[in-house]
Order: sequence, then C-alpha cells, then structure tokens
Amino acid sequence: MSRQRVALIGLGIMGSGMAGRLLSAGFPLVVYNRNRDKAAPFETAGAVLAASPREAASRAEVVISMVADDVASRAVWLGESGALGAAAPGTVLVESSTLSVAWVRELAEAARQKHCELLDAPVTGTKPHAANGELLFLVGGSETALATARPVLAPLSRDAIYLGPTGSGALMKLINNFLCGVQAASLAEAAALVSNAGLDREKALAVLTNGAPGSPLVKTLAARAAAGDFTPNFVLRLMAKDLSYAIEEGIRNHLNLRTAAPALAEFERAIAAGYGDRDFSAVIEAMQRS
Ligand code: NAP
Repeated sequence: MSRQRVALIGLGIMGSGMAGRLLSAGFPLVVYNRNRDKAAPFETAGAVLAASPREAASRAEVVISMVADDVASRAVWLGESGALGAAAPGTVLVESSTLSVAWVRELAEAARQKHCELLDAPVTGTKPHAANGELLFLVGGSETALATARPVLAPLSRDAIYLGPTGSGALMKLINNFLCGVQAASLAEAAALVSNAGLDREKALAVLTNGAPGSPLVKTLAARAAAGDFTPNFVLRLMAKDLSYAIEEGIRNHLNLRTAAPALAEFERAIAAGYGDRDFSAVIEAMQRS
C-alpha cells in the first residue's frame, strides 16, 4: 500500500519519538529541526533532511509540526522559510504542539488562504508514549481533513478524538494541562508540608498516592521525585507555558481560572531557581528547597 509523504517539523522530545514511529511504519518522511544536530540521526534511519520548514513541506502531503510554543509555531509555518510558503493546495497541516487557541485560529485562516486545511491536534502522553505510538490526539478542524490524516496518525497513537471545529483540540489540551499543572503544584506543596512537619516522607507519599488524591499523574510525579530523577519527559518551562495559555483562554471565556495562577507562580519560581529545563516533576524538588 502506498503511504502518504509526511513532513515532520520539530525533533524535540516528542517529535523525535514520532519521527521514529513514522519511519518504522514505512512512511516516506522528511524532517526539519532548527538545531540540525538533532535531525542528523534520522537521516541514517531513512528520513530526508530538509534545510527549512518550507523545503520539508514542499515534499509532503501531510505536514506535522511538534514545536515548543506559539512563537516557534509561527516561525515554522509563517516565518521567512516557513512551511506554509511551499505547502501545495490540498495539503493537510497537523499542528500537534500545545498552543493558544487564538494562534491556532489565525494559523488555520492562513492555511485556508493557501487552500490547505489545518488540524489542531495536540497530544496527551509524554516521551515514552511518543516513542511507542501511544499518544492520544485531541483534534479540531474538519472531519474530512482528519480522515485524510488518520493513516499518518495511526502509528503514532492509540486514538485521535475529533472534538469539533478549529481550536477545539487546542482548547481541550489546555484544559487538560491546566488540571495537570494544578495537581503537580499542589503535590509539591503537600510534599513540602510533609517534610517541614517532620512526617515520614515515604509513608506519607504512599498514603497520598494509594488514596483518593493518587491520580495517575500524582503517582508518576511522586515516583520521579522519590527517585530524584528529573531527566525531562516534559520540560518544566513548557508546563508554565501551558498554564499561562490556559489562563488566557479562561479570560477569553469570561472565566478566571483561580487555581491556575498560583500553580503558574509555583512553576515560575522553579524556573527562576534553575529548574526550567528539568522534568516538570522537579517543581516538587524546587518547592522543597525554597
Ligand atoms: P522540546 O523537547 O523542548 O522540543 C521543542 C522543539 O521546538 C524543538 O524541536 C525545538 O527546536 C523547537 N523550537 C523551539 N523554539 C523554536 C523556534 N523559535 N523555531 C523553530 N523551532 C523551535 O519539547 P517537546 O517536549 O518535544 O514538546 C513539543 C510540544 O509538545 C510542546 O508544545 C509541548 O508543550 C507539547 N507536549 C509535550 C509533551 C511532553 O511530555 N514532552 C506532551 C504533550 C505535549 P531546537 O531543537 O532547535 O531547539
């Protein structure tokens, strides 16, 4: 069966796992990363390296972007050598980064003017899920474009949930990460209280993680903090970005996300203390040391 030609822009923690999955599934793949060193190993694995997002998009029927934030997304799609400059009419653009809804809508309009369709399709799951094809895509845009992209998303994911028109996927992802960020910040405070009050840390964390507050996220973060392993699966500064986008989205929807602001402040304190490029579970360690 002939596979669609795919371009993947952004080979960070998530994009590199996704590129590996697309190559294993036999998709002709062209990749671009701003820092070329990260792209080189994918050439050995069978990908074509592009010198710019524009060059990557010119060779593809489906273009996926997996970059840090709104600034990065704007640069790779609309920058001087941006992907949209060369995407052929009919190309499906899949923006999988976690971004603001306002930017995603602007990008979808720019895509429409080029006779392309944009799906906002951010993901849940983290580094191992990207590497093992177990992501969950949260999709906004048209169902027709999703039908075109599905064969490409299949080796990357356990499912792609269609949520509605442009922006619906981005919004769902921000709500998801708002809840994750608040849980992580409150776990950091709970663990600090345990320590300051002199409770046995191991026993106390076992009570919390095995009881009602022990969500899958709280369990994972507590285990990482206990192991003292903050090698990034999801860098802390990106969680701060997600919380700030969620707060903006709340305001746009006439809602003050009152628990998000202090959670964001917790992550900002951790960034100021030098934890920005560690895993976001390091918010627990940062609080302990403050
Ligand atoms: P990452 O490892 O920090 O990678 C970020 C990527 O963005 C790199 O390829 C980086 O290129 C690129 N980039 C940053 N600024 C750029 C710019 N101005 N122009 C062009 N490229 C730029 O991040 P990640 O963990 O893969 O996350 C990628 C996206 O997925 C983010 O939106 C994140 O919030 C979201 N996400 C992450 C996870 C997770 O668990 N990691 C889970 C779900 C969603 P360089 O290599 O050149 O710096």
